[in-house]
Amino acid sequence: MSFKPKRIEDFRRKDDLIVVTGAGGFIAGALVRYFHDKGFHRIRAVDKKPLPEWYQATPGVENICLDLSHRANCVRACEGAVEVYQLAADMGGMGFIERFRVECLRSVLINTHMTEAAFRAGADRYFFSSSACAYNTDLQKDPGARALKEADAYPAMAERGYGWEKLFSEMICQEYWAERGLRTFIARLHNAYGPHGTWDGGREKAPAALCRKVIEARDNGSMTVNVWGDGSKTRSFMYIDDCVEGIDFITHCDELVATPINLGTGELVSVNDLLTVIEETAGFKVKRTYDLTAPQGVGGRNSDNTMIKRVLGWEPSTPLRKGLARTYPWIEEQYRLRKAGKRTVS
Ligand code: NAD
Repeated sequence: MSFKPKRIEDFRRKDDLIVVTGAGGFIAGALVRYFHDKGFHRIRAVDKKPLPEWYQATPGVENICLDLSHRANCVRACEGAVEVYQLAADMGGMGFIERFRVECLRSVLINTHMTEAAFRAGADRYFFSSSACAYNTDLQKDPGARALKEADAYPAMAERGYGWEKLFSEMICQEYWAERGLRTFIARLHNAYGPHGTWDGGREKAPAALCRKVIEARDNGSMTVNVWGDGSKTRSFMYIDDCVEGIDFITHCDELVATPINLGTGELVSVNDLLTVIEETAGFKVKRTYDLTAPQGVGGRNSDNTMIKRVLGWEPSTPLRKGLARTYPWIEEQYRLRKAGKRTVS
């Protein structure tokens, strides 16, 4: 490709106020660090979790604890904002989103109030983290299902709860652009993983859960890992560095205003394959048992990257093996710290 996608520094001064919500969590925490490392020195990071529970709190950033399901807190969060990145949501892996649909649906309060607050504050750009769960589940029944392209969200049959909330909040973003001129950007994220993500406690996703189970299997001597489902379900997994860079590119691409776009890799792997790569990273093999009654989600889900490659000349490209080589040791360290009674992420 002959062109380079634009980044935040192509539009903003280093003292412009950047607001990032959900910043006590995985992706937004990494995004705050990314902007901070670029030299932006007015960043407001917001999360409802008390500060000591944030996965990473970047020093020199205005870290504040607010519950953004309340309108007044969204107004406070957006005061003076030039750009707003909305990543706060009640979410987790399959075990969480299948069990807690009401919590997932209630994130609509955050998105409704945040869009309005960003608009009233006169923000120039607003990013919303949607999800591949917004896609029509009828197209994802088979592990070999074709990759999902952006048009596949409609006719709609999103994941119950979590997916429908994302789809509705996408529409809020689209109509705030169409009727009110708020420049909104919408990424449909496919599974992200990496250091500083949830790795235990019920909200973790497959890569972190399987890394932890492999570590536990060795630690407790069983050398056995229980897999949710029969291991044949397929997904693609995006490394966190690609995810934050993609969010920057998408939010600074005017062709993408109010236009949902996939942000994920096209490297489709089965849960069994994922576990094999983790074993290779760990340097030992485990016995596998399968729990066919556990939550498993759709049969297969992959990201069709035709659009992102055309518009940005870029796509997430960190190979799974490389990303796991950085993630596995981090989870191992967290596991060790927790065993020693020290504080850990999640
Ligand atoms: P995360 O759970 O690590 O972070 C979300 C954060 O939002 C949490 O720290 C939580 O405390 C905060 N939050 C929840 N309710 C809030 C409220 N009312 N007020 C303020 N903060 C609140 O999740 P993540 O993996 O970092 O995901 C970030 C965003 O990306 C979410 O919107 C999620 O739906 C979306 N997404 C993530 C993935 C993924 O693979 N991680 C995939 C698709 C979409």
